Amino acid sequence: MFNFSPRKAWVLFALTFAGLFGWLLWQTPSGEIVETEEIIYYQVDALTISDLKAQIRTRGPQGYSGFVQWRVLPTLNGGLKLHTKITMPKHAAPDQLSSSVAFTWNRFVKALWKHERVHQYHGKRAAKEALQSAYVHHLAIFRKWSKQDDRFDKLTAHGATEGAWLP
Ligand SMILES: [Zn+2]
Repeated sequence: MFNFSPRKAWVLFALTFAGLFGWLLWQTPSGEIVETEEIIYYQVDALTISDLKAQIRTRGPQGYSGFVQWRVLPTLNGGLKLHTKITMPKHAAPDQLSSSVAFTWNRFVKALWKHERVHQYHGKRAAKEALQSAYVHHLAIFRKWSKQDDRFDKLTAHGATEGAWLP
């Protein structure tokens, strides 16, 4: 539903960076993957599902309810660093929700986490494959897994078919 993909922008940024240090990887293809994770929450505070949906549309990352950006960078010891940034909604006052709204909201957030973790997994696969390949192949590997992210979103309607939707 959105043409601009910040995920792609991140990958391109990572690739530019990777080029600067690429020769290191070329010379030392062995190493380890160091994983770091950053979770950013945006707040919602509405008390009805329809208002929560409206808040997600305006406050969520590019209108999405959740988002994952992963990037792979070479490390100086010939390994790779995989950094994953996850943006998720958080209700500011869950105690104020009625039990039925709380139930629906919690179900939604749980399904959304499951969906975003799959994107994170794609990043892990990309890093693993890159570690086992010569640097010259990294661009193709990152593109492949970035495309896999897009395909996954198309297949699941950004998680909606997996339960990450609000009625
Ligand atoms: Zn997605």
